[in-house]
Amino acid sequence: MKPLTATHVKYFHLCQRKLWLFDRDVWMEHTSEAVAAGELLHQTAYPQRAERYREISIGGSRIDFYDPQRKVVHELKKSNKMEASNVAQVKYYLWLLEAHGVEGPTAILEYPKLRQTQAVDLTAEDRARIPGELAAMRTLLADETTCPPVINKPFCKQCAYYEFCYVAE
Ligand code: SF4
Repeated sequence: MKPLTATHVKYFHLCQRKLWLFDRDVWMEHTSEAVAAGELLHQTAYPQRAERYREISIGGSRIDFYDPQRKVVHELKKSNKMEASNVAQVKYYLWLLEAHGVEGPTAILEYPKLRQTQAVDLTAEDRARIPGELAAMRTLLADETTCPPVINKPFCKQCAYYEFCYVAE
Protein backbone atom coordinates (compact mmCIF):
# COMPACT_ATOMS: atom_id res chain seq x y z
CA MET A 1 0.00 0.00 0.00
CA LYS A 2 1.27 3.47 -0.88
CA PRO A 3 1.23 6.38 1.57
CA LEU A 4 -2.20 7.96 1.43
CA THR A 5 -2.48 11.21 -0.52
CA ALA A 6 -5.11 13.80 -1.34
CA THR A 7 -5.81 11.84 -4.53
CA HIS A 8 -6.68 8.81 -2.40
CA VAL A 9 -9.04 10.99 -0.34
CA LYS A 10 -10.70 12.40 -3.46
CA TYR A 11 -11.22 8.94 -4.92
CA PHE A 12 -12.50 7.58 -1.59
CA HIS A 13 -15.33 10.10 -1.82
CA LEU A 14 -15.87 9.47 -5.52
CA CYS A 15 -15.60 5.71 -5.99
CA GLN A 16 -13.91 3.13 -3.80
CA ARG A 17 -13.20 0.94 -6.83
CA LYS A 18 -11.31 3.81 -8.46
CA LEU A 19 -9.39 4.28 -5.21
CA TRP A 20 -8.45 0.60 -5.09
CA LEU A 21 -7.34 0.50 -8.75
CA PHE A 22 -5.38 3.75 -8.43
CA ASP A 23 -3.55 2.46 -5.35
CA ARG A 24 -2.52 -0.63 -7.29
CA ASP A 25 -1.09 1.38 -10.15
CA VAL A 26 -3.78 0.28 -12.54
CA TRP A 27 -3.01 3.65 -13.99
CA MET A 28 -5.08 4.70 -16.96
CA GLU A 29 -5.39 8.40 -16.28
CA HIS A 30 -2.85 9.21 -19.00
CA THR A 31 -5.39 7.96 -21.51
CA SER A 32 -8.15 10.13 -20.12
CA GLU A 33 -9.10 13.25 -22.02
CA ALA A 34 -10.67 14.58 -18.82
CA VAL A 35 -7.36 14.38 -16.97
CA ALA A 36 -5.51 15.99 -19.88
CA ALA A 37 -8.06 18.81 -19.87
CA GLY A 38 -7.55 19.25 -16.13
CA GLU A 39 -3.79 19.52 -16.54
CA LEU A 40 -4.22 22.04 -19.34
CA LEU A 41 -6.51 24.07 -17.08
CA HIS A 42 -3.82 24.21 -14.40
CA GLN A 43 -1.24 25.36 -16.94
CA THR A 44 -3.33 28.02 -18.65
CA ALA A 45 -6.13 29.29 -16.38
CA TYR A 46 -3.98 31.76 -14.46
CA PRO A 47 -0.58 32.22 -16.10
CA GLN A 48 0.39 34.82 -13.47
CA ARG A 49 -0.10 32.33 -10.66
CA ALA A 50 3.45 31.01 -10.69
CA GLU A 51 4.57 34.41 -9.36
CA ARG A 52 1.94 34.75 -6.68
CA TYR A 53 1.58 31.27 -5.27
CA ARG A 54 3.79 28.36 -4.37
CA GLU A 55 3.58 24.71 -5.23
CA ILE A 56 4.25 22.79 -2.03
CA SER A 57 4.65 19.13 -1.10
CA ILE A 58 3.21 18.16 2.25
CA GLY A 59 2.55 14.77 3.82
CA GLY A 60 3.05 13.01 0.48
CA SER A 61 0.56 15.29 -1.31
CA ARG A 62 1.21 18.22 -3.63
CA ILE A 63 -0.68 21.49 -3.40
CA ASP A 64 -0.38 23.31 -6.72
CA PHE A 65 -1.32 26.81 -5.63
CA TYR A 66 -0.69 27.86 -2.04
CA ASP A 67 -0.59 31.43 -0.82
CA PRO A 68 1.77 31.21 2.17
CA GLN A 69 1.13 34.79 3.30
CA ARG A 70 -2.63 34.41 3.56
CA LYS A 71 -2.47 30.65 4.28
CA VAL A 72 -4.97 29.97 1.50
CA VAL A 73 -5.04 26.90 -0.74
CA HIS A 74 -6.37 27.60 -4.24
CA GLU A 75 -7.59 24.49 -6.02
CA LEU A 76 -8.67 24.71 -9.66
CA LYS A 77 -11.32 22.41 -11.06
CA LYS A 78 -12.92 22.38 -14.46
CA SER A 79 -16.32 21.24 -13.23
CA ASN A 80 -18.32 21.31 -10.00
CA LYS A 81 -20.08 18.04 -10.77
CA MET A 82 -17.86 16.19 -8.29
CA GLU A 83 -18.26 18.82 -5.61
CA ALA A 84 -18.22 16.48 -2.62
CA SER A 85 -14.94 14.84 -3.63
CA ASN A 86 -13.42 18.22 -4.55
CA VAL A 87 -14.31 19.56 -1.11
CA ALA A 88 -12.96 16.42 0.59
CA GLN A 89 -9.67 16.82 -1.27
CA VAL A 90 -9.11 20.43 -0.20
CA LYS A 91 -10.23 19.75 3.37
CA TYR A 92 -7.53 17.08 3.46
CA TYR A 93 -4.99 19.68 2.33
CA LEU A 94 -6.14 21.92 5.20
CA TRP A 95 -5.90 19.02 7.63
CA LEU A 96 -2.34 18.30 6.47
CA LEU A 97 -1.38 21.96 6.80
CA GLU A 98 -2.72 22.06 10.35
CA ALA A 99 -0.92 18.80 11.16
CA HIS A 100 2.29 20.49 10.02
CA GLY A 101 1.78 23.51 12.27
CA VAL A 102 -0.04 25.98 10.01
CA GLU A 103 -2.74 27.75 12.04
CA GLY A 104 -6.09 28.55 10.45
CA PRO A 105 -5.50 27.66 6.80
CA THR A 106 -8.45 28.06 4.45
CA ALA A 107 -9.14 27.07 0.85
CA ILE A 108 -10.90 28.33 -2.24
CA LEU A 109 -12.18 25.94 -4.85
CA GLU A 110 -12.10 27.72 -8.18
CA TYR A 111 -14.04 26.82 -11.30
CA PRO A 112 -12.64 29.22 -13.94
CA LYS A 113 -14.82 27.93 -16.74
CA LEU A 114 -17.94 28.45 -14.62
CA ARG A 115 -16.63 31.72 -13.12
CA GLN A 116 -17.45 30.34 -9.69
CA THR A 117 -15.55 30.00 -6.45
CA GLN A 118 -16.33 28.18 -3.23
CA ALA A 119 -14.74 28.89 0.14
CA VAL A 120 -13.79 25.80 2.15
CA ASP A 121 -12.90 25.65 5.85
CA LEU A 122 -11.80 22.84 8.09
CA THR A 123 -14.37 22.31 10.82
CA ALA A 124 -14.19 20.47 14.13
CA GLU A 125 -16.30 17.75 12.51
CA ASP A 126 -13.76 17.40 9.71
CA ARG A 127 -10.92 17.09 12.21
CA ALA A 128 -12.78 14.27 13.93
CA ARG A 129 -13.84 12.57 10.65
CA ILE A 130 -10.64 12.55 8.62
CA PRO A 131 -8.51 10.17 10.77
CA GLY A 132 -11.35 7.62 10.68
CA GLU A 133 -11.59 7.92 6.91
CA LEU A 134 -7.86 7.38 6.53
CA ALA A 135 -8.17 4.24 8.67
CA ALA A 136 -11.10 3.03 6.54
CA MET A 137 -9.04 3.58 3.38
CA ARG A 138 -6.12 1.61 4.78
CA THR A 139 -8.47 -1.28 5.62
CA LEU A 140 -10.01 -1.22 2.15
CA LEU A 141 -6.64 -1.05 0.40
CA ALA A 142 -5.09 -3.77 2.56
CA ASP A 143 -7.46 -6.27 0.94
CA GLU A 144 -5.43 -7.28 -2.09
CA THR A 145 -7.96 -9.63 -3.58
CA THR A 146 -11.28 -7.81 -3.46
CA CYS A 147 -11.69 -5.02 -5.97
CA PRO A 148 -14.76 -2.99 -4.90
CA PRO A 149 -17.75 -3.29 -7.27
CA VAL A 150 -18.61 -0.88 -10.07
CA ILE A 151 -20.95 1.88 -8.98
CA ASN A 152 -22.96 2.55 -12.15
CA LYS A 153 -23.02 6.33 -11.87
CA PRO A 154 -23.49 8.72 -14.79
CA PHE A 155 -19.97 10.07 -14.26
CA CYS A 156 -18.49 6.62 -14.90
CA LYS A 157 -18.50 7.48 -18.61
CA GLN A 158 -15.96 10.24 -17.93
CA CYS A 159 -13.77 8.02 -15.74
CA ALA A 160 -10.41 6.79 -17.04
CA TYR A 161 -11.36 3.29 -15.83
CA TYR A 162 -14.62 3.17 -17.75
CA GLU A 163 -13.53 0.59 -20.30
CA PHE A 164 -11.80 -1.44 -17.61
CA CYS A 165 -14.96 -1.49 -15.52
CA TYR A 166 -17.66 -1.91 -18.13
CA VAL A 167 -16.02 -3.44 -21.18
CA ALA A 168 -13.28 -5.66 -19.84
CA GLU A 169 -15.55 -7.34 -17.29
S1 SF4 B 1 -15.83 3.71 -14.15
FE1 SF4 B 1 -17.21 4.07 -12.41
S2 SF4 B 1 -17.07 2.18 -11.20
FE2 SF4 B 1 -15.30 2.20 -12.57
S3 SF4 B 1 -13.67 3.13 -11.34
FE3 SF4 B 1 -14.62 4.77 -12.56
S4 SF4 B 1 -16.17 5.66 -11.21
FE4 SF4 B 1 -15.61 3.65 -10.37
